[in-house]
Amino acid sequence: MKTTNGKYRAKKKQMIASALGVECYFCHRTENQRIHNKWGMRHLELADMNLSNLKNALASDDFIILCARCHGCVHWCMKYLKMSWVDIIE
Ligand SMILES: [Zn+2]
Repeated sequence: MKTTNGKYRAKKKQMIASALGVECYFCHRTENQRIHNKWGMRHLELADMNLSNLKNALASDDFIILCARCHGCVHWCMKYLKMSWVDIIE
Protein backbone atom coordinates (compact mmCIF):
# COMPACT_ATOMS: atom_id res chain seq x y z
CA MET A 1 0.00 0.00 0.00
CA LYS A 2 1.39 3.38 -0.99
CA THR A 3 0.47 6.08 1.50
CA THR A 4 2.80 8.86 0.43
CA ASN A 5 2.06 11.17 -2.44
CA GLY A 6 3.66 14.42 -3.49
CA LYS A 7 1.38 16.58 -1.41
CA TYR A 8 1.92 14.48 1.70
CA ARG A 9 5.68 14.59 1.29
CA ALA A 10 5.56 18.35 0.76
CA LYS A 11 3.58 18.73 3.98
CA LYS A 12 6.13 16.71 5.90
CA LYS A 13 8.97 18.68 4.36
CA GLN A 14 7.29 21.91 5.41
CA MET A 15 6.76 20.62 8.97
CA ILE A 16 10.42 19.64 9.19
CA ALA A 17 11.58 23.00 7.83
CA SER A 18 9.44 24.96 10.27
CA ALA A 19 10.56 22.84 13.24
CA LEU A 20 14.24 22.44 12.41
CA GLY A 21 15.00 25.13 9.85
CA VAL A 22 16.73 24.55 6.53
CA GLU A 23 20.41 25.16 7.29
CA CYS A 24 23.06 22.69 8.31
CA TYR A 25 23.73 23.06 12.03
CA PHE A 26 27.49 23.16 11.51
CA CYS A 27 28.23 24.87 8.19
CA HIS A 28 24.87 26.50 7.34
CA ARG A 29 24.69 25.03 3.86
CA THR A 30 21.18 24.62 2.60
CA GLU A 31 21.74 21.86 0.04
CA ASN A 32 21.62 18.11 0.49
CA GLN A 33 20.25 18.20 4.00
CA ARG A 34 19.91 15.14 6.10
CA ILE A 35 17.76 14.92 9.18
CA HIS A 36 20.03 13.60 11.84
CA ASN A 37 18.86 11.88 14.98
CA LYS A 38 21.19 13.11 17.70
CA TRP A 39 21.29 9.76 19.43
CA GLY A 40 22.23 7.82 16.32
CA MET A 41 18.93 6.12 15.68
CA ARG A 42 17.81 5.16 12.21
CA HIS A 43 16.80 8.13 10.11
CA LEU A 44 14.40 6.14 8.04
CA GLU A 45 11.86 6.17 10.84
CA LEU A 46 11.17 9.86 10.38
CA ALA A 47 10.34 9.47 6.72
CA ASP A 48 7.93 6.66 7.51
CA MET A 49 6.05 8.44 10.27
CA ASN A 50 2.54 9.73 9.87
CA LEU A 51 1.99 13.45 10.39
CA SER A 52 1.11 13.33 14.09
CA ASN A 53 4.04 11.06 14.95
CA LEU A 54 6.30 13.30 12.92
CA LYS A 55 5.05 16.32 14.82
CA ASN A 56 5.82 14.65 18.16
CA ALA A 57 9.23 13.56 16.94
CA LEU A 58 10.11 17.07 15.82
CA ALA A 59 8.95 18.47 19.16
CA SER A 60 11.18 16.02 21.02
CA ASP A 61 14.36 17.95 20.14
CA ASP A 62 16.05 14.72 19.05
CA PHE A 63 16.54 15.75 15.42
CA ILE A 64 18.67 18.31 13.67
CA ILE A 65 19.38 19.40 10.11
CA LEU A 66 22.83 18.60 8.74
CA CYS A 67 24.18 18.70 5.21
CA ALA A 68 25.34 15.44 3.69
CA ARG A 69 28.97 16.20 4.39
CA CYS A 70 28.60 17.15 8.05
CA HIS A 71 26.17 14.28 8.54
CA GLY A 72 28.83 11.88 7.32
CA CYS A 73 31.35 13.42 9.73
CA VAL A 74 29.01 13.14 12.69
CA HIS A 75 28.40 9.46 12.01
CA TRP A 76 32.09 8.86 11.53
CA CYS A 77 32.78 10.42 14.95
CA MET A 78 30.01 8.39 16.54
CA LYS A 79 31.14 5.13 15.01
CA TYR A 80 34.92 5.34 15.19
CA LEU A 81 35.51 7.76 18.03
CA LYS A 82 32.48 6.61 20.05
CA MET A 83 31.45 10.21 20.52
CA SER A 84 27.93 11.18 21.50
CA TRP A 85 26.11 14.14 20.00
CA VAL A 86 26.96 16.16 23.11
CA ASP A 87 30.66 15.29 22.75
CA ILE A 88 30.59 16.46 19.14
CA ILE A 89 28.95 19.85 19.69
CA GLU A 90 31.06 20.75 22.72
ZN1 LIG B 1 27.21 20.98 6.94
